[in-house]
Amino acid sequence: RKRVLMIPGPVEVSTAVLEQMAGPPTSHVDPNFINEFGEALEMLRTVFQCKDGQPFIVAGSGTLGWDMVAANLVEPGEAALVINTGLFGDRFGEALEAYGASVTHVRAPAIGAVPTLDQVAAALRERTYKVMTITHVDTSTGVLIDLVALARVVRTVSPNTLVIVDGVCSVGGEDLDMDAAGVDVTLTASQKALGAPPGLSVVMASQRAMATFKHRVTKPTSYYASWAKWTPIMQAYEARKPSYFATPAVPLVKALHASLKQIVARPMANRTAYHAAISDLVKRTVTAWGLRLVPQGLDLAAHTMTAVYYPPGVSGAKLLASLAAKGVTIAGGLHPQIATQYFRIGHMGITATHDEELRYVHRTLALLEAALREQGYLQDADPTTDTVVGAARVPA
Ligand code: PMP
Repeated sequence: RKRVLMIPGPVEVSTAVLEQMAGPPTSHVDPNFINEFGEALEMLRTVFQCKDGQPFIVAGSGTLGWDMVAANLVEPGEAALVINTGLFGDRFGEALEAYGASVTHVRAPAIGAVPTLDQVAAALRERTYKVMTITHVDTSTGVLIDLVALARVVRTVSPNTLVIVDGVCSVGGEDLDMDAAGVDVTLTASQKALGAPPGLSVVMASQRAMATFKHRVTKPTSYYASWAKWTPIMQAYEARKPSYFATPAVPLVKALHASLKQIVARPMANRTAYHAAISDLVKRTVTAWGLRLVPQGLDLAAHTMTAVYYPPGVSGAKLLASLAAKGVTIAGGLHPQIATQYFRIGHMGITATHDEELRYVHRTLALLEAALREQGYLQDADPTTDTVVGAARVPA
C-alpha cells in the first residue's frame, strides 16, 4: 500500500485531480483548456473571497509569489515591513531585499509566539512602508496569526501601506476573506490546502494593488514575474481567448481546476470548519499524550498543520523512520533554531475535508502512538486507541 503523505505540503490529492495529471498533452490554446484556465481563475475569487481581484496562476512554486510582490509592488529603495513568525518571514524579507527593498522585521518575541499589535503599530509609525507582509501560517512554527487584526492596525496607522499575505500554508484551509479584512495581495501555491500537486504560484491582487502597480514610476524589476506580462494573459484566459507569454504548466492548471471545482462546490466556511475540526482532533490527541505544541497557545496554532516537540528521550530521526516504515510520512522540523527538536504533521486538503478521509488522520495518530511506544514513551498509558481523543466534530 502506498505511503500516506501527511507533511505540511505537498499533500494527498483527490482522484479527480490525479486523473488530470495522467492525460495526453494538450495545447495551451486548446479551447477546452482555455475554458478550464478561465474557470480556475474565476473560482479563485471565491476561494480568496476577493470579488474584484486580479488572479494570477503562473508556473512556479509558492516562492514565485514573493518575487511577484517584490518585483511589481515595491520599487527599489522603498521600505517593506515583515511581520515575522518564523523562517518564512525571514525568506520573504530576503526576497524583498533581492529586488532592492529596504526591509524591517517585526519579530515574534519567541519561537511559537507572535508580535503584539502594539509592536506592529509602533513600527508602522516610525517609517512609511510601501508594503507590510504577514505570513498567515508560518509552516516552520505552525503559528497562525490574526491577519484581520493586523490589517486593521495598518488601516488605522498607515492606510496607504499595502497589506500582503503569504497564504501558502493557509489558503483553502484557514478563514480568509480578503475583501472583509482589507488585504491587498494574497499569494499561495498549488500543493497545500488547494489540493493540487506542486508547481503553480497562485496569487490574488486587489484592485488597489493593481492600481499601485500601474502607477509605479520604475519598470517591474523582473521579466518572468512581471505583472505587465501576465495580467493581459490572465485576462485573455478569463475572456476565453488564446494568448501567450510563457507556456503554462497545462497538466497542473487542469489539476488545479479539478481541485477548485471540488472546493467551491461547498461554502468556504464549511471547508475551514472541517480543517478546524481535524486540527482540533490532532492537537487534543498529541497534547493528551503529554506532548507540547510549538505554538504558544491553541489560539496561535494553525488548523492546516500541527508542529509538536518530541518528548524527552524520544529520537526524532527514529520516530520519523518508524512512521515511514509503518506507512505514513510526516515531516521533521524546519526552523533552524529548533530543527531537530520537533516534528510537523500536515492535515489539509482531502485529508481534512471528507468524512471518509478521516482515516488518514486516524491512521497517522494511531501509528504515531505506536512509534512513540516503541521508544518507551506512553508505556504506562492504556495501550488502546482511546488515546486518540474523541471523534472529530466534523460539520455536515
Ligand atoms: N511560504 C510559506 C508559508 C510556505 O510554507 C512555503 C512552502 N513551504 C513557501 C512560502 C514557499 O513555497 P514553495 O516551497 O512552494 O516555493
